[in-house]
Amino acid sequence: MADDSIAVVDLERCQPDRCSYECKNYCPPNRTGKECITLRGEEAEEGQPEQIHISEEICLGETCGICVEKCPFDAIEIINLPKELQDDPAHRYGENAFSLYGLPAPQDGQVTGILGPNGIGKTTAIRILAGELEPNLGRHEEEPGWDEVLEAYRGTELQDYITNVRDGDVTIARKPQYVDQIPNSFDGNTRELLERTDERGALNSLVERLSIGPVMEHSIDDLSGGELQRVALAATLARDTDFYFLDEITPYLDIGQRVTAARLIRELAEKEDKSMLVIEHDLAILDLLADTLHVAYGEPGAYGVITSPKSVRNGINEYLSGYLENENMRIRPNPIEFEEYAPRTVTAADTLVEYPDLTKSYGDGEFSLEIESGTIRENEVLGIVGPNGIGKSTFAKLLTDNLEPDEGDSDLDLDISYKPQYVTIDQYMRVDAFLSSITDQFGSSYWNTEIAQPLQLERIMEQNLSDLSGGERQRVAIAACLSDSADLYLLDEPSAHLDVEQRVQATSAIRRYAEQQDATVLVIDHDIYMMDLLADRLMVFNGEPAVHGRAGQPKPMRDGMNEFLANLEVTFRRDERTSRPRINKPESQLDRQQKSEGEYYYS
Ligand code: SF4
Repeated sequence: MADDSIAVVDLERCQPDRCSYECKNYCPPNRTGKECITLRGEEAEEGQPEQIHISEEICLGETCGICVEKCPFDAIEIINLPKELQDDPAHRYGENAFSLYGLPAPQDGQVTGILGPNGIGKTTAIRILAGELEPNLGRHEEEPGWDEVLEAYRGTELQDYITNVRDGDVTIARKPQYVDQIPNSFDGNTRELLERTDERGALNSLVERLSIGPVMEHSIDDLSGGELQRVALAATLARDTDFYFLDEITPYLDIGQRVTAARLIRELAEKEDKSMLVIEHDLAILDLLADTLHVAYGEPGAYGVITSPKSVRNGINEYLSGYLENENMRIRPNPIEFEEYAPRTVTAADTLVEYPDLTKSYGDGEFSLEIESGTIRENEVLGIVGPNGIGKSTFAKLLTDNLEPDEGDSDLDLDISYKPQYVTIDQYMRVDAFLSSITDQFGSSYWNTEIAQPLQLERIMEQNLSDLSGGERQRVAIAACLSDSADLYLLDEPSAHLDVEQRVQATSAIRRYAEQQDATVLVIDHDIYMMDLLADRLMVFNGEPAVHGRAGQPKPMRDGMNEFLANLEVTFRRDERTSRPRINKPESQLDRQQKSEGEYYYS
């Protein structure tokens, strides 16, 4: 095989009991008597036939690819590594297994960000930086040992750090990615969990700033996603270690809570000279939070590359442009572009529907919601923003007749295709069967280009809905919502569980769909980038979470964002080069000037 190619076999997918080794039978070197595709010499599981192994010495590389075509389960990838990738991997799990190139470089007193999709080696990188995994520099048969690893990183930003790891001198606190799994590993209440972690004596202040007080005596089992996320953050930041690793801080949090989390992390780095490494898919928060940024790219499950550190501004701009300048690497065919003003013009004459004043209260009036009457226009994307617990999803349920209002008539006499906040498609049915039952466009070239490709559905079409991860389920639910024929499409939190690449692709799929189908779309979300790219107008919810919510009429983007951000005391500006929204540093000159002018959204 050419030096720059690798063969990767996904052993979760390889099922030789169901395919009769088609790959092995058709492999050209095998047919001439060579041992290119062989058996591993061990049963896959008890009683199951042996899975395959591919010799990277003998394989002809991507120009052949016959086994990739023949495998009915998409278990094989033959990949030409980018020729710009000249270094050895930091670690490879074995022949035909995942390789990681490059490592992030944490720095004392700094927040280092990583930006890139899931599945390309961040866990491997963290295990190496924590000293749990000795990197093998790609030599899985003859492990090099820490001294040789240190030699390989001599003269780089990582030299000092790796010296400390080799000497066992690094302590680490980490916040897990999936906070909803915390109740599986901890029995007890919030106070018990947090008091075990209070090594810095900072717990009271963390509890106050993250508004955890009301749930201190609650069982961990009973916490919502947003509460678990804040408790996990407090538990991590209360520890006293050299190195803090935070794997996504924003899921389930509203924008105010995201900004608070970002400020706490920055303060710990700046005031206590701690080293923070953050993986984050919300670009606005990453921009606010990080001092330097590594971009990660590759093929999920096959190989991942973590670039050298970049300035945060350049890293995000290059990522959005799809081209990494120093690496001379294209990571996406098309750039993600922001437009300073909403691109579509709509007039008052294009009314799709008018809804009346609505009220709804819950729990003997403990929570009440008031909606001012308003208009949804034809062919617009209407963004809906506001804190958690303020009634946004209740409004969606009123429109879709999943809830009855106390006052007002919410029956809009429209066909509404609705993706709820919590996606519950878990019947035992394959993804392709589920989607083809929704639209007869399924499988057409239009549907494949506009829905399946941007939502990366090809590789999961044959899986069962009940086996999908949170991100896969979200992508199928967005596809199902957009594939239905309807007067109005309503998507509640489409960015949840999506990594940054899936988020930008889903955003452009929704926007393109709205434009090309002249569709009317309502989107509830906390991701400012997604809102900025998608929405023509905004409906703003405010009030007191869990007590009282109120929504005014939909407003033009600028007015809506100004109202929304004024409540949060956060200001944004546009990046000069790309027009993307950027959060101003609190108390910076621009922040103060924009606040005094009442222009929270772009001066
Ligand atoms: Fe054989 Fe390699 Fe061709 Fe696959 S790509 S069939 S392993 S030569």
